[in-house]
Amino acid sequence: MSKERFVKRMLIRSLVGAALVGLCCWGCSSRDENTLKMVTEATFPPYEFLRGGEVVGVDVEICRAVAEKLGKQFAVENVDFDSVIPSVISEKADLAAAGITVTEDRKQSVDFSDVYAKTEIVLIYRKDKPVLTADDCKGKRIGVQSGNTAETIVLEQFQQEPERFRSAPEACAALKAGRCDAVLVDVEPAKNCVKGEDDLAIAPTPINLEEYAIAIRKGRPELLKAVNEVIAELKASGRIESWKDQYRAEADAMKE
Ligand code: GLN
Repeated sequence: MSKERFVKRMLIRSLVGAALVGLCCWGCSSRDENTLKMVTEATFPPYEFLRGGEVVGVDVEICRAVAEKLGKQFAVENVDFDSVIPSVISEKADLAAAGITVTEDRKQSVDFSDVYAKTEIVLIYRKDKPVLTADDCKGKRIGVQSGNTAETIVLEQFQQEPERFRSAPEACAALKAGRCDAVLVDVEPAKNCVKGEDDLAIAPTPINLEEYAIAIRKGRPELLKAVNEVIAELKASGRIESWKDQYRAEADAMKE
């Protein structure tokens, strides 16, 4: 092969290579502007849980309604709870909806929509060893889901280390097996956890009252406005309450 032909061939190879790398990076990094992506953690009925491989629930319906309003496709990704808010900050997703409690701390890093639901944080205990109040929790092994507000309550209010789990159902399984003494969790998933479990119950007095909203990366006022408009419409029409009843019944039936 002549020197010229060799140089020409090498040049073509490197141009094709560069084009392929460019194409791949473009494909990997660009967000699809036609798709509204929601991120959640699907062990939290009736707000989000798995039906087969599909994530369903109240939060999914709210975010789907936002996508419809914006004329976009809709996609849902299921991650660990402590990755939900980081996913919108890093722009891997547009909306974080996972029964996320509005807190001053989280407001430092994301914007919150208007509130769409209220919750109580409650204790689940074993009927043979009741743990009913914050005082009863002192020195006990309290199970929480990593990264949620119950973890903060155990650390800051109870002033002790919690037992951390990936999900509320995992914490409840540990409670049944005697690997923790109580579980602190939002009331709706708590009701689902004790459903059909004769040895478990929910303490009557909530430990905290909290409110849910959708988290969005700071600096997206148009998206925030669209989300708030959808929430206002869905609250006014009673849709959020009816989805709550519908998905609570579906999640409970899955435990029967
Ligand atoms: N509401 C709680 C929080 O925001 C728990 C949410 C969840 O576990 N999905 O921390």
